Amino acid sequence: VNFKMTHTIAIANQKGGVGKTTTCANLGIGLARQGRKVLLVDFDPQANLTISLGYQMPDELPVTLTDAVYNLLNRGTSRGKDEPLLDIRTAILHHEEGVDLLPSSLGLFSLELTMTGANARETILKRLLAPLKSQYDVILIDCAPTLGMFTLNSLSAADSILIPVSVNFLSIEGISQLLDTVMFIKQEINPDVIIEGIVLTMLDARTSYARGMVSLISNTYGNSLSIFNAQIPYSVRASEISALGCSIYAHNAKGKVARAYEKLVQEVIGHGI
Ligand code: ATP
Ligand code: MG
Repeated sequence: VNFKMTHTIAIANQKGGVGKTTTCANLGIGLARQGRKVLLVDFDPQANLTISLGYQMPDELPVTLTDAVYNLLNRGTSRGKDEPLLDIRTAILHHEEGVDLLPSSLGLFSLELTMTGANARETILKRLLAPLKSQYDVILIDCAPTLGMFTLNSLSAADSILIPVSVNFLSIEGISQLLDTVMFIKQEINPDVIIEGIVLTMLDARTSYARGMVSLISNTYGNSLSIFNAQIPYSVRASEISALGCSIYAHNAKGKVARAYEKLVQEVIGHGI
């Protein structure tokens, strides 16, 4: 019998463009490079994770998480109750850098309203992932930049939450809103969920503005939340990878962003993952 624990980590921040998807891909591929069996889950209807791992036409993939959500919702209705169960494993793609991906598609957008009206609507993703858990050491969920149904589902499916924060003031304000949502999730749905930590992204450490923001974040949240020592620097090299379908390790192995993500990987492993 294998008692190995699967850790499911949601990469979340309702603020857009803070580096969630980039962190999901590069933390995941970094963990795979350290021997972990990793599944990346794209639960954002923008399908940015799917696209940035090289599947540029997500709506043309034969099976995606969208189909699995649709199947689960439909089977919960009187009209669809006899529909056969979709095997979620048929949606999984194998990326050449050693991670598996559960892709999303833009069609997921149109399911949000139906999800909102469904039974146990917060645990749709959790139920879909359940049959996959035993096959992976780590499952990373890339969240949408909202506090709606998709993020609620991602947080409910997670053991912990990793919060990328880009160093600008609006995104810092967003942290307290996200923490309120985490409190709600803990009280109502997922009492055991913990915050894995905040990771600072797109940092230009040379500017005094950035340094000021870093100390503001540690002064405001340093006592209540863990802040990773690894800080992801701003680099054009990092912004290039989404069009290339690869990780920063494949694109610019010796660069500062690759080194920073490697450091983050080591810290996450240090948390027992
Ligand atoms: P969304 O909220 O839309 O899902 P996100 O939080 O997932 O966005 P990303 O898509 O990872 O954020 O990053 C936003 C943009 O910044 C992308 O164009 C990405 O390529 C770029 N980017 C990510 N990390 C870095 C970095 N370290 N340096 C420079 N650009 C970066
Ligand atoms: Mg994203």
